[in-house]
Amino acid sequence: METSRISLIPPEAVHPRGGRIPLERATRWWSPYEANGYDQAVTVFISPRAFVRVCAHAGSDLDNEVGGWLIGKWRADRASGEQFIVIESSLPARETRQGSAYLTFTQNSQVALYNEVQERYPDKDVVGWYHTHPRMGIFLSEFDTFLHRNFFPELHQVALVIEPHSASGGFFIRRRDGALDSRRYYGFYELNNGRKRSVVHWRNLLSDAERMSVIGGQKL
Ligand SMILES: [Zn+2]
Repeated sequence: METSRISLIPPEAVHPRGGRIPLERATRWWSPYEANGYDQAVTVFISPRAFVRVCAHAGSDLDNEVGGWLIGKWRADRASGEQFIVIESSLPARETRQGSAYLTFTQNSQVALYNEVQERYPDKDVVGWYHTHPRMGIFLSEFDTFLHRNFFPELHQVALVIEPHSASGGFFIRRRDGALDSRRYYGFYELNNGRKRSVVHWRNLLSDAERMSVIGGQKL
């Protein structure tokens, strides 16, 4: 099987650079699976521009899976040491083999994407990947988990799954011990830089206020 011939892409940096976690410039969106006490390895931030771009690609083909890479920064907060990623852009995978139930990152597509990242975003990190599940749910299949482990093996690398028909999505994030739950997805922080307006339209996620009312009603 061609997809089993995986060559290692050039390694990413070993340690995150120092930075300041932009909590005060961001709006939190919660997944219904998130309760207190989770232990994710990184906190995810996404810029409105990157969110819109990924959603536009996700909605461009409602029958076949599409996907690509998430590009941005990997940082550790200088005060708390908390690791976080900021998704700032995305690169669609071009040479994938598409089908209604799978999307394959081929070796060629990985090399092409890596070269493009080096050329266009020399100072940025590959912080994960995204793909769509038209008319399926938000989860990682066994094959998705295989791809994640082989192509995105670092603790801080995340997988975003989007279901364009129901306008929903979520992040799969490793725990600090490296474990990955393929069913329970996380929300994220939308970088708003002081603006109130949100571009996030996924119906499966809860705002801070919605989450509080759900907790008040003890549905969590
Ligand atoms: Zn999948």
